Amino acid sequence: MSGTATTTGARTEPVRAEGTFGDGALVVCDSLVRIYQSDGIEVQALQGLDLLVEEGELVAVVGASGSGKSTLLGILSGLDVPTAGRVRVGPWDLAAMTRAQRVTYRRQSVGFVWQQTARNLVPYLTAEQNVDFPQSVAGVPRRERAARTHELLGALGVADCAHRRPGQLSGGQQQRVAIAVALANSPALLLADEPTGELDTTTSAEVLEALRSVNTELGTTVLVVTHDPSVSEHVRRTVAIRDGRTSSEVLRSTRTHDDGTEHTVAEEFAVLDRAGRVQLPREYREALDLVGRVRLALEEHQVTVRSGRES
Ligand code: ADP
Ligand code: MG
Repeated sequence: MSGTATTTGARTEPVRAEGTFGDGALVVCDSLVRIYQSDGIEVQALQGLDLLVEEGELVAVVGASGSGKSTLLGILSGLDVPTAGRVRVGPWDLAAMTRAQRVTYRRQSVGFVWQQTARNLVPYLTAEQNVDFPQSVAGVPRRERAARTHELLGALGVADCAHRRPGQLSGGQQQRVAIAVALANSPALLLADEPTGELDTTTSAEVLEALRSVNTELGTTVLVVTHDPSVSEHVRRTVAIRDGRTSSEVLRSTRTHDDGTEHTVAEEFAVLDRAGRVQLPREYREALDLVGRVRLALEEHQVTVRSGRES
């Protein structure tokens, strides 16, 4: 029956077989709004943000300072709740969790790495003890903990740092140990807020590669936010966030030439939101002096946008 039209009296209605937005995705942000009130002033940090992340993806969200990135991660990590909109990670409805569910979610389902290297690690514990700690809190037996810690420090290339304290590690090593800590209890989702913000270019690349190997080797879904556009060189999918909503995406893929050489292709897409809105880049608007009313035309295989002033 599906796909057919049913005729009732004068009206013909198509049979809809449409699911809910984001069914099947691991992370669903649906028209997320977060408004902060401070001293009577309203700040709209998220203004109807839509974002889907599939299980197994490595996604970067890039945006200028103040665009809402930390606000988004605060909500996804279960620390904050949205003012409006729907947000789900796996089976968890993050807008409607009880306090107890929130604790369980934060312990078991999500791991995070912060920009401030010092915030990620307990300073008086060794790297090994830092990775052991969250497992011990979760009640994992000692032998299992030791095996997991060994595996994670090895996977992140910091096995030789096991017995050192954070103060005895470089910034890059600290962030890789921080990633191991975040993964200690095998979360489905790893969130990283500007994990390379305090690092130089070479060390940043090293940490981004560590996130990539976590994604490919361990299969963890990773969402990293940063103001650094060069992160897109390390990930397949980069989502741009502007004024609290997602505006465009860059997808990178590897193609093989006839002569066998490989090259990377990066394609930029505008994001059409669920209400049908699309943001035209400023350069395009300025080039054709598009302001206010514009003319839209549906053609055979494309939609064109023209200045509303031309006759
Ligand atoms: P980003 O991480 O992209 O720099 P944020 O999510 O931190 O952006 O902030 C988005 C906007 O919300 C900014 O205008 C910021 O000043 C504001 N903001 C963030 N946190 C608060 C808060 N606790 N109270 C009031 N305004 C806030
Ligand atoms: Mg931030």
